[in-house]
Amino acid sequence: MLTDLRNRDIKELSEVYDSESRDSFISLYLDIASLDTKFVRRRRNTCKSVLKEDKELSENFEKAMQMIEGYLNKNEREKGQQGLAIFASNIHNFFRAYKLGMPVENLLIVDTSPYIRPLARLADEYEAFGLVLLDSQRAKIYVVSSGKVGYKKRYANDIINRHKKGGMSQARFQRLRKGAIDHFLKNVAEDVEKLFLQDEVVKIIIAGSGNAKLSFKNILPPHIKSKIVDIIDMDFDEAEGRLISQAEEIVLEDEKETSEKYVSRLRDEILRNGLAVHGLKETGEAVIKGQIELLLVSKGYKIRGWICEKCQTVDSGVKDKCPYCGSRTAEVDVIEELIEFAERTDTKIEFVEDNPILAELGGVGGMLRFKPPPVE
Ligand SMILES: [Zn+2]
Repeated sequence: MLTDLRNRDIKELSEVYDSESRDSFISLYLDIASLDTKFVRRRRNTCKSVLKEDKELSENFEKAMQMIEGYLNKNEREKGQQGLAIFASNIHNFFRAYKLGMPVENLLIVDTSPYIRPLARLADEYEAFGLVLLDSQRAKIYVVSSGKVGYKKRYANDIINRHKKGGMSQARFQRLRKGAIDHFLKNVAEDVEKLFLQDEVVKIIIAGSGNAKLSFKNILPPHIKSKIVDIIDMDFDEAEGRLISQAEEIVLEDEKETSEKYVSRLRDEILRNGLAVHGLKETGEAVIKGQIELLLVSKGYKIRGWICEKCQTVDSGVKDKCPYCGSRTAEVDVIEELIEFAERTDTKIEFVEDNPILAELGGVGGMLRFKPPPVE
């Protein structure tokens, strides 16, 4: 089964770490669609030679890799699967595998905790959306979540056909026909409301030929209507694959626009000295204190730093020992750590692509839940 990636899975991963700051977790991401079979072997050898000096860690690495390879040998590619994410640690007796309906880049990382950034990014980009395909006689409802296409319902309208017309006047026939169509669309709308609510659909696309899709839009209740991102012309018998991929493109485009809107909101808040922080130091502190409602991160942005897993301190730069508790530290990407802290506190994370304003603001920023009182 493909994984329906929910925020609670990512939150669970974000809460796992090695309290002695040992590099005891392996995170493996594989692009299944264009599988490079040598990738795992290559990275395995590299990491193995780096860990050679540390007996405990190299043994952990070997055993965790054996768990991973056992899984890879046993599990076949699912229909629609594009990616795979595995997190494993032998010391912590930890193993999680996610079959993804979304594309990922190959990555094998050894770290003090599961490396969740690519998953968090997928969860942001691939929000569940609903798709309604209809004309005046037929309808299909889909919910697409984590790249997984769920087929919800299909209908055929028992419409009055021309051959039933009999001795009816043209006007009467038209009236009856319109009544039947309205009734049909109303039924579909009622189900859409129920099904989309239950699947936490946040975006809706309506597709079809002719006028039915516009009449349909007009009868939807306002809270459903406000989720519509596009209405597209599409033949009812169009191949499902093409329909879904077109809808996915629209949703990704909409997601990009949304993240740009968030950056402008951040900018406006900063100009008014309002509910916002920016730059690594300010944002990092607010994330750790759980003060941020929405964390904005530039997509490829990384900052070299260190973490003390014992007392959960993170900072940029290089430090072998924690200045607060004296424990051993580990080298990390500070942005990844911010993402993990944000997941733990149910902070929404928005990944922003190539945005000059956010880059200027230090690559990270956040909207605050409230304005913290000034420090005395
Ligand atoms: Zn410490």
